[in-house]
Amino acid sequence: MMFGNFVGTLTLVLALQVTAVNAQKKKEQLPQPVVVQPVIKGKVPSDAIMLFDKGSLDNFVNVKDGTAAAWKVQGKKFTVVPGTDNIQTKEKFGDCQLHVEWKTPKKDVKEGKQGQQNGNSGIYLMGKYEVQVLNSYINQTNPMGQAGALYSQYPPLVNASIQPGKWQTYDIIFTAPRFNADGRVKTPGYLTVIHNGVLVQNHVEIQGPTTAYNKNTPDDANELPLMLQHHKNEVSYRNIWIRKL
Ligand code: MG
Repeated sequence: MMFGNFVGTLTLVLALQVTAVNAQKKKEQLPQPVVVQPVIKGKVPSDAIMLFDKGSLDNFVNVKDGTAAAWKVQGKKFTVVPGTDNIQTKEKFGDCQLHVEWKTPKKDVKEGKQGQQNGNSGIYLMGKYEVQVLNSYINQTNPMGQAGALYSQYPPLVNASIQPGKWQTYDIIFTAPRFNADGRVKTPGYLTVIHNGVLVQNHVEIQGPTTAYNKNTPDDANELPLMLQHHKNEVSYRNIWIRKL
């Protein structure tokens, strides 16, 4: 009887060990994550698409007529030219991780521009969902229109802005909405934004296109160009890269 119990227990222990070994083997057989160059010492991830590095705006066009982007390039930065147009990427993007560096002009402050007239531009995921660019350093405005806001939908969790004339960063993680065949939203889009290293949007559910979006694109597309806003203020951009997810 005792021997029987002993054998039973031993069998159970062995069976459990085999199961554990098999489970471990299965885990080890999972595909290895792809190795990428991480963001250290100013490097860009090795699997990122560089949208602007220096020299030319070849990856962008004017939104209205598709001609060469009319903003001004100076070496490693480019700047909105008042009186031109929004610009957008030639390539289309859906789910992505996006890095953008931007600065608002000191000039707007010197000229006494306030609120939405002070360093306004914007980053429109798929040309439809604007992460606001604005001087929000000592410049009060509607919170849903300040830097880091998903325009008119969510104010930033905190104000992480620094002075105009200084470079700021956005790291954006975007999940595009999915649509049914009849064009209705199947699953909503989501947005996470890190401003100057600080979380300002935490996986918020996108409520639909934001003000002044590009209306000349299908409402139910999976991928669309990334758009930068011309709002007459001389906002500059540099080091823009994107990873398709
Ligand atoms: Mg804007």
